[in-house]
Order: sequence, then structure tokens, then C-alpha cells
Amino acid sequence: MVDNFLAKDRNRILIVGGGYVGFTVAQQLQKRIKASGGIVTVVDPNPYMMYLPFLPEVAAGSIEARSAVVSHQQYLSDCELVSGRVTGINHAERVATVQTIADGPVLEIPYDEIVVAGGSVTRAFPIEGLGESAIGMKSIEEAVAVRNWVLERIGIASQTTDDAVRRRALTFAVVGGGFAGVETIAELEDMARTAVARDPRLKVSDLRFVMVEAMDRIMPEVSKERAEKVVAHLRSRGIEVLLNTSLDSAVDNHLKLINMKDKSPAGEIDVDTLIWTAGVAANPLSKSSDFPLDERGRVRAGADLRITGDDGPIEKAWAAGDTAAVPDLSGGGVGGFCVPNAQHAVRQAHVMVKNILAAREGRELQDYYHENIGAVAGFGLNKGVANIKGVEFQGFPAWAMHRLYHGAAIPTIEHKSRVFTEWGLNMIFGRNTAPIRHVRDPRLNFQSATGQEVVRTKIKL
Ligand SMILES: Cc1cc2nc3c(=O)[nH]c(=O)nc-3n(C[C@H](O)[C@H](O)[C@H](O)COP(=O)(O)OP(=O)(O)OC[C@H]3O[C@@H](n4cnc5c(N)ncnc54)[C@H](O)[C@@H]3O)c2cc1C
Repeated sequence: MVDNFLAKDRNRILIVGGGYVGFTVAQQLQKRIKASGGIVTVVDPNPYMMYLPFLPEVAAGSIEARSAVVSHQQYLSDCELVSGRVTGINHAERVATVQTIADGPVLEIPYDEIVVAGGSVTRAFPIEGLGESAIGMKSIEEAVAVRNWVLERIGIASQTTDDAVRRRALTFAVVGGGFAGVETIAELEDMARTAVARDPRLKVSDLRFVMVEAMDRIMPEVSKERAEKVVAHLRSRGIEVLLNTSLDSAVDNHLKLINMKDKSPAGEIDVDTLIWTAGVAANPLSKSSDFPLDERGRVRAGADLRITGDDGPIEKAWAAGDTAAVPDLSGGGVGGFCVPNAQHAVRQAHVMVKNILAAREGRELQDYYHENIGAVAGFGLNKGVANIKGVEFQGFPAWAMHRLYHGAAIPTIEHKSRVFTEWGLNMIFGRNTAPIRHVRDPRLNFQSATGQEVVRTKIKL
């Protein structure tokens, strides 16, 4: 069946997705499986594992984009890497269909064992104008684009003589008050404040940051009291936090808000920047498989991380991370299942490696058990919140914990060193607030130099 670059006649463990779970499992198994004559094959459209908790800091220019991604080629050198998207899994036949990148060939990859680790996707709603006006915060590309975009808006505001243009350029809205949304708006506000303070034509009070949250609270990961303190902190920085408020439409970047309690209008805002962080959903790729799914589209897994249907575990099929419904035996999850976070994903990956090896050697499998140790969040330089085993911190200690935890948690010594070095340099020299121009249109200069018609990308953000 296979007539391409794939290894032939090798016992193959196919890993779908090289993110937190996939990267960790592949890294730990690659040498052992290769030594036993097999091969670990990792399929991912991205050539890297993204350290997602760093996206807000990448968007705020505190960390370079490349330091927040871990190259598969460099660190999974004993794996077989396929750049593509799994579009179907037929476990009965032990074959996965892969659309390789750039409309390359469609591969049918046979395997013996599979790890489903495709993560989650941004969950959006059918809101008029949202697709055209907004950007998510779920990929490194989005974080890079947001940094440049926000700094460009500040540059535009500095030059314009039109009040409406300036107001719009300096108005930034984030929808979604979970960890990602709060960190994103707080980090961006910190960066924008620095950039504006360096511009004699603008005032910090010209900036307008608005967070829109449909629930009556933000950050479900921390206690209600702590969340209220975070709201107070954000408001003390001038960030408007609109609770019980939802985005009704975003046509032409004109936001119409509604009150969630009585569905009455809750204001209208013109923005140049709209960032959507209102939740994630399981990767829809699982729907193109013959694996059992729960009502949220997650692959059903047992506590030992084997994919499990009504008739019990399915042979040689594993799932973990955001894409899987893994029972939370600590009793701390939502609906009895682990919540989608990195804390679970990386620990599940370690248990999965042990279980894959144990199953091969006929040993007993172990169940995944993890009690939530808490959460840390950074809100810009020297600001943050943390909840470690029920003890809550804020301000500098929380921010320092956030940096220490994530700086130590990003895979590889190389990346830890890069991140800590960048933080250190930023402390000494301040952060760089120059936007890189024309990232979306890198050929503009060359087009004009060669007399071609200059074609600008039409996207807004
Ligand atoms: C902005 C942000 C901040 C966060 N901050 C925190 C935090 O502070 N603490 C915390 O615990 N968690 C945090 N999280 C959540 C955490 O990052 C995720 O829970 C974790 O990444 C899940 O790991 P995973 O391996 O399941 O998925 P991922 O790490 O997302 O990996 C999935 C991989 O699958 C690949 N893929 C997708 N579709 C396909 C396909 N069809 N075929 C092949 N490959 C595919 C993707 O390219 C990706 O590489 C944050 C998330 C975001 C977005």
C-alpha cells in the first residue's frame, strides 16, 4: 500500500499531533522503539510543539516566537516526521489518512498502534462579522500577528489627525475571560502602556482595553474571591471588564454587545483589534475516526489512557490531552473528566509512555491520577495571580512563580535557557516595542522595486 518516503516493514506507533502529549510521548519512546526495530511516526501540520501558555507573552513581546516553539526535527530525530493533517483514522484496518502540507500527496499510513493527541481547536460561535474581524490566541502565528498589529495601531494613532481613527486604533477588545483571555489582555495592556509612554504624542489614558465575558465571573480556575480581585486589579489598570456581557455582532469591527441576563443592548464599540479567546472544543478530526466519542466530540479514554468503548478498551489505541475525555480520578474535574490543560496533558503523556511499554511487555497498566496543584498566571511585568494547593498569591510573588514554573516547564534545556535569557535581557533593557512591518506582505518592497503592482493582503488582522 505504501509507496512513498515512509519506513516500510517496521512496527509503527503513529502519533497524531506533536503538541504537549504527542511531543512528550514521541520524545520518550523514539529511541526504545527504534532500537527494537520499530518506528515512531509523528504527524502534525506544524513542524514544532507550541508552548501555548507563552502565547500571551509572545503577543506582548516578552518572549521571542521561536523560543516558544520546540522543533520536531531537532528533538524528535529518531522519529519519522510527516508534515500533514490526519483526516481519517480507520482503526479496524489500522490505517490513517493524511493530507500532507501544501496540498501534497494524500498518504495512507498503516500502523500497529496509535496515539490520538490532536488537542483542541478554538471554539467560535456564529456571530455576524466575527470571522472577518477577529483573531484567536491559539497559535504562535496569531501571537506574532497580534504583537505587530497592536504596536502598528499605536504607530497609526500617533500619526493620525483624525480623532475617530485614533480612538479606534487604540481600542482593543478581548472576548473570553478564561486564563488565556485575561493573560492576553493584561500582557497586551502592559506592552501598549510601555509603547505609548515612549511616544510623546500619545497618552496612556488614550488606550482603551475592553474584556467581554458572558459569565458573571472570570477565570473559573481560581476561587471566586480571587477572580473578583483580578477583576479589581484589571479595572485599576483602566481595563474595562464587562461581565454578563456577550458579543452579538462584529460587522466591520463595529462591536454590538448584549447583556446576558435580559438580552438587552449593552453598548457598541468600534475597534481595530478584536481577539477571541472564548474557549476551546475537541479537535473535530476525531469525528473522522472509528473511535468512540463523548457528547462533546472527545475520544473516550479509560483512566489508563486506552481508548475505551462500550465493550471495554480498544487494542493498541491511546488518547490523552485536550482531545480526550479522560476520567479525573481525583474528583476535581468537570463532569468527572480532566479539564483541558497542560498540567494534565503532560502528566497523562508520561503515564501513557509507561502504559504503552507495560502493555508491550505484558505488565499491568497504571491509572492516571493527578490532583490539581493550582494555577499561575502572569498579567504583565511584576503582576500576576497564583493558587498553589489552595494558597493564593498575587502581585510580584505570583508573577515570579508564573515565570519560574513555565520557564522550567517548557521542554528542552535549550528553550528554558532561551526564555530565561530573554526575560533577563528585557529586565535590563526593557522590551522592544518596534513592530516588524509588512509581516503579512513581505514582498511589498520588492514588488515596488521591480515595478510590479503592489498587492496588499486584504485581511484586517
Ligand atoms: C493561550 C493559551 C494559554 C494557555 N495557558 C495554559 C496554562 O497556563 N496552563 C495550562 O495548564 N494550560 C494552558 N493552556 C492549555 C494547554 O496549552 C493545552 O491544554 C495543551 O496544549 C493540550 O495539549 P495537547 O497535546 O492535548 O494539545 P496541543 O498541545 O494543542 O497539541 C495538539 C497538536 O495536534 C496537532 N494537530 C491538530 N490537528 C491535527 C491533525 N488533524 N492531524 C495531525 N495533527 C494535528 C496540532 O498542530 C498540535 O501540534 C493554554 C492554552 C492556550 C491556547
